[in-house]
Amino acid sequence: MMECEEGVKSILISEKELQAGVAEMGKLLSEEYRGKKLLLVSILKGAFIFLADLCRRIEIPCDIDFMCVSSYHNSTVSSGKVEIIKDIGADLSEYDVLIVEDVLDTGLTLAEVMRILKGRNPKSLKICTLLDKPARRKSDISADYVIFTIPDEFVIGYGLDCAEKYRNLPYIGVYDIGFGK
Ligand code: IMP
Ligand code: MG
Repeated sequence: MMECEEGVKSILISEKELQAGVAEMGKLLSEEYRGKKLLLVSILKGAFIFLADLCRRIEIPCDIDFMCVSSYHNSTVSSGKVEIIKDIGADLSEYDVLIVEDVLDTGLTLAEVMRILKGRNPKSLKICTLLDKPARRKSDISADYVIFTIPDEFVIGYGLDCAEKYRNLPYIGVYDIGFGK
């Protein structure tokens, strides 16, 4: 049993499993996008480590950009509304765009981001997510590429946070919701 950080109930996906999954996805994407002008768009902040590892496993040329959005969704609002804090600079009509996301949860944020980006007429628009939590989906959205499907747990590490902490853990852990209480 591996030693856990304080606040981490258990390790869900080890560093080794993450690296293997990301490497395999990089290989697959290299084949899928060969000969195309690929733009990886990562949604900050959660996907920064995943993007950094994934792009180094992609064996074809690709451009990289970032978007930062803040989501406003609560129980009284059924559709996701997002405010763009930092936008992409490039003209998307030249690109096959792949959104690189940390976790697809309710899907409300990504549904809105997809709607915005579609309006800019990219050659194609797809989603690659490290983690998928299908149990919590509230919008009609699914990822084209999923590395790990996980149960409905709040997870941290490998870029994912709980109140900005734990992003630097090298593994994905289940957050101990009783921690600090
Ligand atoms: P949603 O799909 O609109 O609900 O939002 C997804 C975003 O919520 C992700 O990009 C994460 O930033 C955050 N999120 C969802 N589930 C988790 C989790 O288990 N741990 C940490 N952040 C999460
Ligand atoms: Mg995110």
